[in-house]
Amino acid sequence: MKIPYNPGLVIEPDDGKRAYLIDSIRHPAEIQLLRRTYGQSFALIGVVCQESERERRVLGKYFTDPQRLQDKFASQAREFIKRDADDVDNKHGQHVGDAFHQADFFVDNTKSDPKDEQQLLDEGLGRLINIVTHEKLIRPTIEETAMHHAHSARVRSACLSRQVGAALIDEGGTVVATGTNEVPRAGGGVYGEHFASKFPPHDDRCAFSRGVCSNNQEQNAIVEELIEQLPELKDVSDKFDLAARIRKTRLGSLIEFSRAVHAEMDAVLSAGRVGVSTTGTRLFVTTFPCHYCARHIVGAGVSEVQYIEPYPKSLALKLHCDAIEVDADNWNPPERISIAEERKLTEPPAEGRVLFRPFNGVAPRLYERAFEKTWELKDKVSGEMKMTPPGWGDGWGAFTLSYPQLEAKLSES
Ligand SMILES: [Zn+2]
Repeated sequence: MKIPYNPGLVIEPDDGKRAYLIDSIRHPAEIQLLRRTYGQSFALIGVVCQESERERRVLGKYFTDPQRLQDKFASQAREFIKRDADDVDNKHGQHVGDAFHQADFFVDNTKSDPKDEQQLLDEGLGRLINIVTHEKLIRPTIEETAMHHAHSARVRSACLSRQVGAALIDEGGTVVATGTNEVPRAGGGVYGEHFASKFPPHDDRCAFSRGVCSNNQEQNAIVEELIEQLPELKDVSDKFDLAARIRKTRLGSLIEFSRAVHAEMDAVLSAGRVGVSTTGTRLFVTTFPCHYCARHIVGAGVSEVQYIEPYPKSLALKLHCDAIEVDADNWNPPERISIAEERKLTEPPAEGRVLFRPFNGVAPRLYERAFEKTWELKDKVSGEMKMTPPGWGDGWGAFTLSYPQLEAKLSES
C-alpha cells in the first residue's frame, strides 16, 4: 500500500512492514540523522552519472532550446552542478560531494534509453533489493571484493589530510597488491607495518612524530614569500585575511609537499617490490586519482581504474586526456604489441586508453552486512538448499516496531 506524504503527520504503527523512499539527500548531516534513527535498516543509494550527461540534463530541465546552445547557459549549468556538489559559503547548503561517498550502494544512471533503465533496475537496484529481502542468495562481484580490499587498506592511513586506499587486481580478479596514503619508510613500503617485537618500531608518520602536515607548512611558506615579494601586498593591514584569501586560490590545492606516498602509488610500488607485473591490471581506489597518481597509473600499464569519492583538485583528465577515457562505450583497453605482431597488422591498431570509471554495486560500508551468512542456507538434515532467517530475525528489521515512536520523538524536537 502506498501512503502519501503528509508533512507534520506521524504515521501510526499498524504492525505492517514499511519501506520509505527518500528522493535526493544532499547533506552529510541528513545521512547522519537517518543512520542514527534507522540504524541497519537504512540504505543510502549513490547515483553515479557522467559529468557531460549531468550537464546535458540540467540544461534540458532549466533552459529553453535556443538557450541550451549558448556558452553562457552551459557555464551556468556547470556552476549549478558545482554548487550542488559543495556550497562552500554555506555550511547548511548542498554538499552532495561530502554526502555521496557515504552511500551503501552505487548505481550508474548515465544512460537514458529504456533498455538500460531496465538493466539498472534488474542488475543494479534489483540486486540491492534481493540483498535486503533475502529473496535470492547474493554474493559479491570481483569488483565489490576489490573495492572492499581498497577500503580496508584505506583505514590503515594516519595521514592528517585524508585516508585513501587502493587495491590492484589481475585479470583473474586476484588482489595482487594494496596501498594506502602514508609516509614511506627506508627499505620499502610505508610506516605502520612492522613485525618485529624486540625493539619499539621507529615511526616517523606526521601524526606520531611531527604533529603537523608538511603540505600545509610548505603552502604557508609560499604564501608568506608571495606577500614578502609583492610590495603592493606588504602594506595590507590584515595579513591573516590576505593569507586566507591567497590559500583559497589553486595555491591552496597544491598537493606536492605531502610526505605521503599516495595509495595508488603504494599499490603499484608494492607490486613492483615483489615482482608482480602491473600490466593489464585493474585498480580500485576509494578516491578519484590525483594527477600525479594518474600518470603513474598510465605508466604502470594499468588498464582500468574504478573509484568512489570524487577529487575536484585532480587535473588527471585535463593533463592526461590523451591516455584516459571516461566513457566505457568508447573504450579500447591499452595494449602493448610487439614489433613482430605489429608487422602482421594491415591497419593501425585502435588507440588504447586507461578507463577511469565510477564504482558500481555494494559499497565497502555495506559489504559485510550484505554478504555475511546470517541466514541458514540448507535444511540441516537433508542438506538441500533452503534459505531460512534466524529465529530472532535479521539485522535489517530488528527495530521495526520502535521506529514510529522514535519518529514521533524526533518530530517533536
Ligand atoms: Zn595521488
